Amino acid sequence: MIALNKIRNIYKITFKIVNLTGLRIGSGQVSIDPTKPDNFVMRWKMNTKEIVFIPGSTLKGIFRSTIASLTEDSKCDWHDKAPNKENKKEFLEALKNDEVILCDECRLFGNGFIQGRLLFNDAICEGDFNISIRDGVRIRRDTETAEDKGKYDYEVVDPGCVFNAEITAINVSEKDLELLQKVKDLINLGVIKIGGLKSRGLGRCEIKEWKVESLKEAGGSSNV
Ligand SMILES: [Zn+2]
Repeated sequence: MIALNKIRNIYKITFKIVNLTGLRIGSGQVSIDPTKPDNFVMRWKMNTKEIVFIPGSTLKGIFRSTIASLTEDSKCDWHDKAPNKENKKEFLEALKNDEVILCDECRLFGNGFIQGRLLFNDAICEGDFNISIRDGVRIRRDTETAEDKGKYDYEVVDPGCVFNAEITAINVSEKDLELLQKVKDLINLGVIKIGGLKSRGLGRCEIKEWKVESLKEAGGSSNV
C-alpha cells in the first residue's frame, strides 16, 4: 500500500447500482443437491437475513478492463511484464529517481511491480430482493452449438435490486476521477454490463447517485 506519509489526497466515491435486467453474479459453485440450481448467485447470511452482493473484485475487473480499453494506445513499459529479481530492482531504482512512467491502467489498478490506487468494496444490496431460476442451454464453445444434455438452471437477481457501491481512491487526479466517471457513463448507456450471461441480455445496470467526496485535500493540513 502507499506509504501513509505519501498520501496527498483520498476520495470516497459512493454510488448505487440498480439492475435493469436480471443479474447473474455467479459464485462458481456447482450444486451437488439435485433440487438446487447450478451456480448460485453470490450471497451470504448476515445474522438471519440473506443478502446478495456484487464482489468488489467483480467491480474492479469491470472498471479496469473498461479503462484499459479507453486508453489502449498507451501501454507503459511495465505493462504485462512478469516481475523477477532483476527487473524489480530496476523498477525500485527508477521509482527512487522519479523515472517511472505508468499508463493509466497500471497507475490506477497496479501491476506486478506496484499496487494500485483504487480500493473496491463489495456492493451489498439494500432492501428486498428476489432471486428467480431460469433455464439455460449449455453452448459448446468450440462449435457454438447446443449440447445434447446441456440443459441447466441458473439463478438471477430479479431487476430492481439496489446495490450500494464504494470506491476509495488514493492519490488520484481530476483526470483519473473523470476516467472513473466515463465507466459509469458507459454502464448507464448499456455498453458495459455487469456479471455473467450478458449475451442473454442479463446485467444491464444503471448507476445512480454518483458522489465524490474528498476525505483529504491535496497538500492537506497534516500537522503530524
Ligand atoms: Zn501499464
